[in-house]
Amino acid sequence: MVTATGTPFPSAKVVSVTSIRPTQAVILAGGLGTRLGELTREVPKPMVCVAGRPFLDYLLDLLVEQGFERVTLLLGYRAETVIKHVDDGRKWGIVIDHVVTPPDVQTLTRLRAALPRLDPIVLMAYCDNYVPLDFPAMWDEFTSDDAAVQVTAYANDDGFTRNNMLVDERGRVMAYDPSRTSSDLNRVDLGFAIIDRQRLGPFPRGDLPFEHAVYSDLVRHGRLRAHVTSHRYYGVGSASRLPAAERFFSRCPAVILDRDGVLNRRAGIGEYVTRPEEFVWLEGARKALRMFTLAGIRILIVTNQAGIARGIMTHSDLDAVHGKLLSEAAAAGGTIDRIYHCPHGWDDGCKCRKPAPGMLLQAQRDFDLDLSRTVFVGDTEVDRQAAIAAGCKYRHVDARHELRDVAEELMNREHTDEGVGDW
Ligand SMILES: [Mg+2]
Repeated sequence: MVTATGTPFPSAKVVSVTSIRPTQAVILAGGLGTRLGELTREVPKPMVCVAGRPFLDYLLDLLVEQGFERVTLLLGYRAETVIKHVDDGRKWGIVIDHVVTPPDVQTLTRLRAALPRLDPIVLMAYCDNYVPLDFPAMWDEFTSDDAAVQVTAYANDDGFTRNNMLVDERGRVMAYDPSRTSSDLNRVDLGFAIIDRQRLGPFPRGDLPFEHAVYSDLVRHGRLRAHVTSHRYYGVGSASRLPAAERFFSRCPAVILDRDGVLNRRAGIGEYVTRPEEFVWLEGARKALRMFTLAGIRILIVTNQAGIARGIMTHSDLDAVHGKLLSEAAAAGGTIDRIYHCPHGWDDGCKCRKPAPGMLLQAQRDFDLDLSRTVFVGDTEVDRQAAIAAGCKYRHVDARHELRDVAEELMNREHTDEGVGDW
């Protein structure tokens, strides 16, 4: 094994060189993809088909949506297949170029070969991982610090996979462990790394994975940070992950609804709907549910029910209320796929009581939703905050603008560029 040498970054603190966001992304897409077995015998990993399109297409769409104007593909294995597919990027309205290195070299070598083509600050992505991005928010975080690199990290609070980083509350990476063996790790590196080449300093030598060559040294000097997301990521890194990716990229449209004040009349402050007869539908709510169902849109409900923690009602009281909700919605032609409720009290510190995004994130995982394309409909500031925390789109209802109006608005988008399947 060749060891990386050289000083990968200057020791003195460097202030931000620019406040102008980067517009170039680099995708590492040259590997053999051996973990995919037969799938990559003829087709390179970025071209593996998911929900009818090459995985790379989704990544390119994402980068275009996030304002990137140029993508440099770092290719190796079956490079010609990728080059033929993307051509010069015109299909995406951006410039796509490429640098080809041998299939069996490591990512550090691929990046080094591309250095003459790279802007001072770039976004680096792997070709087998996808997570919705909010690049302006990522950039704000990056420019608030003096880190040389900011990776995007999965929070992994659900224990989806093994962690490989320890990230503190300020977003500083305190440990980077590619072997994933340390006991105190708490986050997972997903790539989507903002790299400031000036802050990084001389590029290391050797043929290693980029992160092995660079990140541990950055951690030692406090120059690696992480933008943390709780949204589940999807990819083609291994065959076992393909079914979930297939569901995710099928982009079955869904709408998430608050309950009280959206579907039914709200009880007074500190009061709860404790019995079925107290559940009174709001005007137009059932018609809206029917419209969603007829349009093939999944309906999910998320509702705070602290009355349970406060001893005002029981779980079985809530079940009875929801039994009425489900049966009367069905009678009106509306199919509700799932109801999530938070039974905790105001001060319990749970992760599910809105404005915390826990229920929205649970729905995301259960149905492989893309929350950045999903609308959450609520009637309070708490709902709005939960939507922001989860990365959802938000629609507000009140006495003048009810759920049926929201449904009609969203249906009309079927005829616009956004499209109903692209919320
Ligand atoms: Mg409400």
